[in-house]
Amino acid sequence: MHVLVVGGAGYIGSHMVKRLGAAGLETTTLDNLSSGWRNAVTFGEFIKGDLGDRDLLNDLFRSEKFDGVMHFAAHMEVLESVENPAKYYANNVSNTLTLLDAMRAHGVNRLVFSSSAAIFGEPRRPRIDENHARAPINPYGRTKLMVEEILRDYDAAYGLKSMRLRYFNAAGADPDGEIGESHEPETHLIPLVLRAASGRRGNITVFGEDYDTPDGTCIRDYIHVNDLCDAHLLALRALWNGDPSAAYNLGNGNGFSVREVIDAAEAVTGAGIPVAYGPRRKGDPARLVSDSTRARVELGWDPRHPELETIVSHAWQWELKTLAEQDLT
Ligand code: UDP
Repeated sequence: MHVLVVGGAGYIGSHMVKRLGAAGLETTTLDNLSSGWRNAVTFGEFIKGDLGDRDLLNDLFRSEKFDGVMHFAAHMEVLESVENPAKYYANNVSNTLTLLDAMRAHGVNRLVFSSSAAIFGEPRRPRIDENHARAPINPYGRTKLMVEEILRDYDAAYGLKSMRLRYFNAAGADPDGEIGESHEPETHLIPLVLRAASGRRGNITVFGEDYDTPDGTCIRDYIHVNDLCDAHLLALRALWNGDPSAAYNLGNGNGFSVREVIDAAEAVTGAGIPVAYGPRRKGDPARLVSDSTRARVELGWDPRHPELETIVSHAWQWELKTLAEQDLT
C-alpha cells in the first residue's frame, strides 16, 4: 500500500511517515517546507511542493498510484489565525479543496484528515465527545470545521471516504530520539517550557492565571504524538476495510493545567524553570479535555504513552539533542 503524506515534514506528519515505514507501507511526502524540515522525513520518497499547486498535484497523482492520503499540511496557530485569517482560509481550506479535487480526478478516495479540538470552541461539558456542539471561537478552528463539512459533502456526493481526527494537544517526541517537535518560531507550551529548562530561553510566560480552573491556568489534554500516529494508521486501515467515514476525538481524557505542565517539566528535567505571568492569549478556551471512547471502541485505539511525565521526558530528550546540535554549530 502506498500512502501520500501531505505535510509529512512537519511535527506530526514526520512521526507519521516513520510509523508508516515501520508498518511496511510505502510513503510519498509532499511538503513545501514552509514550517517543516527535510531531514525530519526519515523514510520514503520526498517531494518539495505546495498543496495548492494544482498542476503539481495532478502530475503526482498521474505518475504514482496512491491507496490513501493523510493530510497534515495546515497552519495551526490560534493567535496568528485571529490576526491573519486570510492566510488560514487560503491554505487550510482553499488548498485542501485543491487536494480533494485532485484526489477525485484520479480516483483516490480514502483520506485521513488532521482536524482539531478547536472545532468545538468553549466546552459545554467536562469532557468533549464527538456529539459535542461544534462552535469554534477562532479562525483556525473554523477552517478545520469547514473542511470537516466539505468532507461530509464529498462523501455523500462523490464517495470520498474520510476519517476526521480531532487532536487535542499533540506533544512529546519519537522515543528513539530521531525526530521531534521543531517549530520556528515555537509557540507550543511543552517545547517552550523545555527550552526554558535547558536555558535556550530565559523563562516561560503563562498566558493568563485568572481562568475558571482550580489554579487559574488553562487546562489541556496532552496526547503523545506517536499515539496520534497509531490512531491514524488504525483509521486508514479501517477505511481500507470498507468502514464508513467517521470522526474521532483523540486525547487521553486527562486535563493538565499550564502550571501542572511546568511542574511536570521541573520533575523530569531537574531544572528550576523561571516563570512569568502574562495576559490571556486571544482565542484560548479555559479547558479542553477529550472523551475518546469512540476511537477506543471503534478503532481499537489504546494510547501507549498516556502519562504526562512520559510525554514530557520524550520531548526533553529531543530538546537535549537539539541543544547539543546547536552547540556544535
Ligand atoms: N501557553 C502558555 N504559554 C506559552 C504557550 C502556551 O501559557 O508560552 C498556554 C496556552 O495559553 C494554552 C496552553 O498553554 O492554554 C497550550 O497552548 P499550546 O499553544 O501549546 O496549544 P493549543 O492549546 O493552543 O493548541
